[in-house]
Amino acid sequence: MNVLLVDDDEVDRERVKRILKRSQPSIQITEASTVDKGIEAYNSNAFDIVLLDYKMPRRDGIEMLKELRCLPKDGSVAIVMMSTSEDEQLALECLRFGAQDFVPKSDITKARLSRAIAHAHTRFELEKELWQSYKKVKQLAESDSLTGLANRYLFDETLKSSIQTNERAHHKIALVLFDIDNFKFVNDTFGHNVGDALLQRTVTRVKSCMRGNELFYRLGGDEFGIIIPTIDEIKYVHSIVNRIKNIFVKPFEIEGVKVTSSVSIGIAIHPDNGNTAQELYKQADIAMYRAKKQGKNLICFFEHDMQEQFSKRYLIEQQLRESIIDKSFFLVYQPILYANQYELAGVEALLRWEYKSNIRAPDTFISVAEDTNLIREIGKWVIQEAFKKIAEWHGLSNLQPELSLNLSPKQLVDEQLVDFIQAELIHYDLDPRHIQFELTETAFLDNSPEIAANIHKISDLGCKIALDDFGTGFSSISHLRNFPIDTVKIDKSILPKDNSNEKEIALMNGLCMMIKALKLNIVAEGVETEYHKQLCHSFNVDKLQGFYFSKPISPKEITSNYFTKGT
Ligand code: C2E
Ligand code: CA
Ligand code: CA
Repeated sequence: MNVLLVDDDEVDRERVKRILKRSQPSIQITEASTVDKGIEAYNSNAFDIVLLDYKMPRRDGIEMLKELRCLPKDGSVAIVMMSTSEDEQLALECLRFGAQDFVPKSDITKARLSRAIAHAHTRFELEKELWQSYKKVKQLAESDSLTGLANRYLFDETLKSSIQTNERAHHKIALVLFDIDNFKFVNDTFGHNVGDALLQRTVTRVKSCMRGNELFYRLGGDEFGIIIPTIDEIKYVHSIVNRIKNIFVKPFEIEGVKVTSSVSIGIAIHPDNGNTAQELYKQADIAMYRAKKQGKNLICFFEHDMQEQFSKRYLIEQQLRESIIDKSFFLVYQPILYANQYELAGVEALLRWEYKSNIRAPDTFISVAEDTNLIREIGKWVIQEAFKKIAEWHGLSNLQPELSLNLSPKQLVDEQLVDFIQAELIHYDLDPRHIQFELTETAFLDNSPEIAANIHKISDLGCKIALDDFGTGFSSISHLRNFPIDTVKIDKSILPKDNSNEKEIALMNGLCMMIKALKLNIVAEGVETEYHKQLCHSFNVDKLQGFYFSKPISPKEITSNYFTKGT
C-alpha cells in the first residue's frame, strides 16, 4: 500500500509511521510537512490513501482536501483526516468536503488506524460506484442510445438556458431543425436495420461538418435539431446549413444497399423570430414544414427577409459554381496617378463577372465567393491574369507602373498562396517591388497566425502591402506599426464633398498627418472632383485614384491611353 502522510508535526508523523509499519511492514509512506508539499507529492505519485492532518500552519487540511477533490485525478484516492481536536462539527465538515473518515489523534492506535483505512477504502469504493451509476442514469436520460446524440429532454433544457443567457448577451441564436426526407420509405423498403444505420450515418456525416460551438440533438424519429449559440451574422448560418444539405449529395452504402437521401431544413433565429424556446421551436418547425411542402431537399428560414437574403446568396453561389473562371471573369484596371505631376504610378486590378450577358461588380459576389472559399480559385486566376498584363505593359515602355491587387482574408489563410505568388513572379519575370497587395483591416484584425505569417512572407518576397479602405473600420494604428505596411489607401468616404464641413476636412488632415508621421505612402481613393484633387495636394497625399482621372477601364484602354505614345 502507498500512503501519503501530510502533517506539519514531526513527532506525530513518526508516531503514525511507526503504527502503520507495525500493522503492514511492506507499506510505502511518503511524508509532507505542508499542504503545498503534500499537493506536489500527490500530483507526482499514485497513492492508495492520504492521511491528512487538519491543523497546519498557513493552509490547513480542509483547504488541501478541497483542492484534492478538484484535481482531475480525483476519484482515485481515499482520504482520512486526523486532528488533535475531537470536535464533532469539524469531523462532519471534513466528511462533507470529501474525506472518507476522521480520526482524532488521541485515538490513533494500530487497530483504530487500520480500521479507519479499511473503512475509508470501502466507503470510497461505494461512493465511486454510486457516482458512476448516477452518471449512467443521467446519460441515459439525456442521450439517445442509437446515435449517442443528446436527446429531446436535453435539447429543451439547453435551448431554454441559451435563450436566457442570450437575453443579456444580445447575440443571435439559430435553431436549425431538419429531418430526413424519405426516411419512412427507406424503413419500409429496406427494413429497420437499414433505417437505423441511415440515422447513425447521417449523424456521423453531419458531425463532420460542424464546428466547436454547435450543439446537435436527436429530437425523435428522423428529426434532428442543432442549436447555434452566439452568431453575429446570419450568413454564418447559411454556410452551416449549406454544408449540411451538401453532405447528402453522396448516397449512403448500407448493407450493400445504395440509399439516396436528402434533408428538409427549417431555421428560426432568436430574438428575431421568437422570444421563448417554445416559440422559437414552433417557428423553426413551420419553416421545416415549408421546406418539405415546397418539394423537400430545401432550406427554409422562418422569416421572409432572411429567406430572401439566403435565396439570393444561394443563387449566386450556384451561378459562381457554374461559371468557368477564365471564361466568365475578367479584370478592369483603374489608373493610380502621382499627385504632383499626374503621371501613371500604377494600376489597381478590379474583378468583374459576366453572367448571362450581365456584368456584375464585386460587391454583388465577392462575399459569397469568400464564404464558399471559391475566392481562392478566383483569386489565383486574378493574380495570374494581372501579372501577365503588367509584364506586358512593363515590356512596352520604360514606365514601370505598380500593380495593385486585392486580397481577401480567405485567400490569406491558404498555405499555398505565398508559393503560388512567388512562382508566378518568376514565371512572368516580374520585379516584386512593382507588385502591391491591398488588404482591408479585417485581414489584420483576424487573429489567425496563418494570416499574420502570410502577410510577413509576402512582404519578405519583396512585394508591397497596402492597407485598403482606411477610415471605414476601426482604423486602428496598431496594424500600421505591427505589420510591414508600405501604403495606406484612404477610403473615398473620408474625402469631404466641399469645403463647407470643417470637421471632415480636419479629420482627413489629421489622418494624413498621422500616416505621414509613420513614414507611409498615402493613396487617396474616390478622387472625383477638382476640389478633391486640390485638397489631397494640400495634405501631401502621394498618389490619387478616382473617377476624376479615370474609371476602371479595360486592359486595351490602359494600353492605348498610357503605353502607345512612346513613353
Ligand atoms: P476597393 O479595393 O476599395 O476598390 C475601389 C473601388 O472603388 C472600385 O469598386 C472602384 O471602381 C471604386 N472607385 C474608384 N474610384 C472611384 C470614385 O472616384 N468614386 C467612387 N464612388 N468609386 C470609385 P469595384 O471595382 O466595384 O470594387 C469594389 C470592391 O471589390 C473593391 O474595393 C475590392 O474590395 C473588391 N474587389 C475588387 N476586385 C477584387 C479582387 O480581385 N479580389 C478581391 N478579393 N476583392 C476585389
Ligand atoms: Ca483596393
Ligand atoms: Ca479601397
